[in-house]
Amino acid sequence: LDALKSTDLETYEAILAEEQRQRDKLLLIASENFASPAVLAAQGSLMTNKYAEGYPGKRYYGGCQHVDTVESLAIERAKQIFGAEHVNVQPHSGSQANMAAYLAVLKPGDTILGLDLAQGGHLTHGSKVNFSGIIFRAFSYGVDRQTETIDYAAVRKIAEECRPRMLVVGASAYARTLDFAKFQEIAKSVGAYLLVDIAHIAGLIAAGLHPNPVPYADFVTTTTHKTLRGPRGGVTMCKAEHAKAVDKIIFPGLQGGPLMHVIAAKAVAFKEAMSPAFKRYQQQVVANARTLAQGLIERGYKIVSGGTDTHLMLVNLTPKGITGKEADAALDAAGIIVNKNAIPYDEKPPAVASGIRIGSPIVSTRGMREAEMREIVALIDRVLQHPQDQQVQSEVRAQAKTLCNRFPIFHAYDSSPA
Ligand code: PLP
Repeated sequence: LDALKSTDLETYEAILAEEQRQRDKLLLIASENFASPAVLAAQGSLMTNKYAEGYPGKRYYGGCQHVDTVESLAIERAKQIFGAEHVNVQPHSGSQANMAAYLAVLKPGDTILGLDLAQGGHLTHGSKVNFSGIIFRAFSYGVDRQTETIDYAAVRKIAEECRPRMLVVGASAYARTLDFAKFQEIAKSVGAYLLVDIAHIAGLIAAGLHPNPVPYADFVTTTTHKTLRGPRGGVTMCKAEHAKAVDKIIFPGLQGGPLMHVIAAKAVAFKEAMSPAFKRYQQQVVANARTLAQGLIERGYKIVSGGTDTHLMLVNLTPKGITGKEADAALDAAGIIVNKNAIPYDEKPPAVASGIRIGSPIVSTRGMREAEMREIVALIDRVLQHPQDQQVQSEVRAQAKTLCNRFPIFHAYDSSPA
């Protein structure tokens, strides 16, 4: 970072401060992860200098032989991991990956049906404030009030009423296994395309710990930076029949030059995702999430749907008498970073919310296991029992830092493909 330091001290110092924050705090945001040194190296490489509009072998610029190599590697590896017939690794983000899937086959004004944002869905699944709700006629399904899991009979009923052109599956805050065969059946019965957005669970799917939607869905999209542990970016996968439409809508439809440094980093992340070490990592992610959920339940916390099958959980704080906003702020002051989150049928506005979302990807990347999860539960509980107590926050902040220092960033990171 010497060049950065001498050129721009302010940015340099902010990056160092961010590094310190990542080192010293217990980061439990479910959508985040620590990319490996190899991924960071590729992403910080001079591949960023290259324009490469088009696709491997069919570019609008000269000098593309080496970027062609990395894009082809990324495509072939993603195909191998997920079994997809066609893969486009150019979307700059998960949102653009979804935009591509929609616009490959839909027209503005068409109807889409996705999981309600307030019940765990993502903005791009039809929220009124997002392009998906602005361009399309968006309807939503939710979770059952009692079980707090998806009620497939209710999804079918809504689908029969609104007759979507696209049924959208996937979530940002849903902790249970999704039944893709059931969604496919519903989509087929109403003549809808099926889009499954695996942004959160892609790493689990790559490791075989969650069913893979690729055999069932017309389109499968993902981000590469969550459980998949790659660079920040998106991928759109589809059946062969949609390959041309997907490629055309991503370039020239939605984007110009691809981010070749990010695509190089995607290739690296996919190589890592094929390793036995990655599988062990994902197993630990799931085991750690279960241990966190179980520990919280034992201390009287209510976990939405009663537990988790994945890397995340939603904690309903209503019985504890504090809001998501208060809990988020108190934990933040104690060096434990989560995010406030609406729970299903939340009576509070989203900016306050009755819950928090907790995820295990980062602490698992650091090498923490079940014993450390139990320590984390104790720290969270101590803070939330005294949400206004600054002395408690300061003590827990020190304990969180000590725990983090036992698991230095990258120290336990096993990026070797062996
Ligand atoms: N899809 C889901 C399910 C997500 O959770 C997210 C991000 O949180 C996205 C898509 C969007 O990804 P990005 O932030 O890269 O646009």
